[in-house]
Amino acid sequence: MSRRRIIAGNWKMNKTPSEAVALCNELKDLVVNDAVDVVYCVPAIDIVPVAEAIKGTNVKLGAENFYIEDKGAYTGEISAPMLKDAGVEYVIMGHSERRDIFGENDILINAKVKKAFEAGLKPILCCGESLAVRKAGTYADWVKRQITWDLYGVTADQVKELVIAYEPIWAIGTGETATADQAQEVCKMIRETIAELYDAPTAEAVRIQYGGSMNAGNAAELLAKDDIDGGLIGGAALKPDFGKIVNA
Ligand code: PEP
Repeated sequence: MSRRRIIAGNWKMNKTPSEAVALCNELKDLVVNDAVDVVYCVPAIDIVPVAEAIKGTNVKLGAENFYIEDKGAYTGEISAPMLKDAGVEYVIMGHSERRDIFGENDILINAKVKKAFEAGLKPILCCGESLAVRKAGTYADWVKRQITWDLYGVTADQVKELVIAYEPIWAIGTGETATADQAQEVCKMIRETIAELYDAPTAEAVRIQYGGSMNAGNAAELLAKDDIDGGLIGGAALKPDFGKIVNA
């Protein structure tokens, strides 16, 4: 089976609504590629203007976060049905910045995976180890444990629609990329974990991205690996370089 490549930008907390629209216009002609799913995961306040700005293009809309309840007294939060209604297709969860800065744990992330599917959104589920865990040599167990907890109770049919982003924390925003072999080793292990938890067809279907300082210079080598089906891109998603990654 051949999996469709998915290149997603994680814009983080970087663009005001007007800057977001300007970036969409700047990237418009650079990100055209019929063979690739191109996604912009944008801050909540940018979702509506970006939905408008990407109309008629090949770009799909993504969000960076949501809360697990549908509505109610959750000041400051945004729900999965709100995202869906605004035209969002993909949503990031389990990002190391949300785990580390905002204290999100695997129980909450598991609830987010389920809620996203319930609302008709496709999760981009992030996992990855810290530098300390990498140095201790226990990174495979660490990532396997994250995936196992985050997918508890999620069905095989849902996992076939899931995107998993392997993002070693030591490579995020540091300029230090995992080598293509290091990234492939863990992405392969993630696919094997899905085969153990589910079955071979589900493991074949799930799309696995690498994320961590992916850029125009290293994307082709990473994306050539058998178990790397795409990238989750931070810094380079805010520049014309993103178009080079889409077409790597
Ligand atoms: C990210 O935070 O998802 C990411 C991969 O960031 P960067 O590309 O900047 O390392």
